[in-house]
Amino acid sequence: MTVTHKLINQMIQLQELVVADMQKKVSMPSARLEELERSIAALGEDLPPQVKTHFYRLVKKHPEAIVPVSSGTCAGCGMGLTRSLINAVHKAEELHRCPNCARFLYYPEQLVERERTSRVYGEARKTGIGRFTSPELMMVSLKGTTPAEVLGEMCGRMEQEGFVVDGNHLLDLALQREAIVSTAVENGLAFPHVRGVEGGGMTLLVGIHRKGVKFGGPGRTLSRIFFFMMIPTATSAFYLKLLSGLSRIFRQKEASAAMLAAKTEEELWKVLIKTTRKMIK
Ligand SMILES: [Zn+2]
Repeated sequence: MTVTHKLINQMIQLQELVVADMQKKVSMPSARLEELERSIAALGEDLPPQVKTHFYRLVKKHPEAIVPVSSGTCAGCGMGLTRSLINAVHKAEELHRCPNCARFLYYPEQLVERERTSRVYGEARKTGIGRFTSPELMMVSLKGTTPAEVLGEMCGRMEQEGFVVDGNHLLDLALQREAIVSTAVENGLAFPHVRGVEGGGMTLLVGIHRKGVKFGGPGRTLSRIFFFMMIPTATSAFYLKLLSGLSRIFRQKEASAAMLAAKTEEELWKVLIKTTRKMIK
């Protein structure tokens, strides 16, 4: 691994912490985040001074200060990049920035094979939350007894249905994210996710664990409703809005009870569309 690779990894990690902090603030307003904020400060201190100044200047404008190359463009602003710049970013002998938006660039791992088109149940698909998910991504009987097992079931489904090439790799990335700070919040909800996955749209899998599982939520909270998301860089800002909308809807007992009562995947799909219809256009 080159010095540049290490620096890129450090910036990605720092950015994940900054975003995790924002996600916690919108999904769990009462969260105590001192520890997370201390890690952010410590990791930031370690960056070379010039990189640090530029990184924080970018972060102030937008949480994405370092973005992947996505289909030949900068995932931050959509500007097309020259072949020679893309090759240089891939080699990573030094840091490169987008000539248009000045964000740092890195070369992403290839995880998504192709854009999926889903089976259609009724007319609800192309509007509301149906834009990001599909009936085959509804799971009503998660059984795992640890975060790794539950995430493994969900990543397996993503692979089985052709949304990712390698479910195990997706699982590793999801576990790395949980290690920063758990994505479980109050009211039995959890929002595990993997960011910076390029090549497809935002993808949501909904999983129900009737018994409940300890997923690192506050106190003795058991998590029962999982919103597992793959989030391309370009949709990050929208993701925060979606996260805040979902946590507001399912903080209400009636909405989460309806989800937990769904017996089949088709039923869960219908409940999801119905309960989110007003909030998510
Ligand atoms: Zn750019």
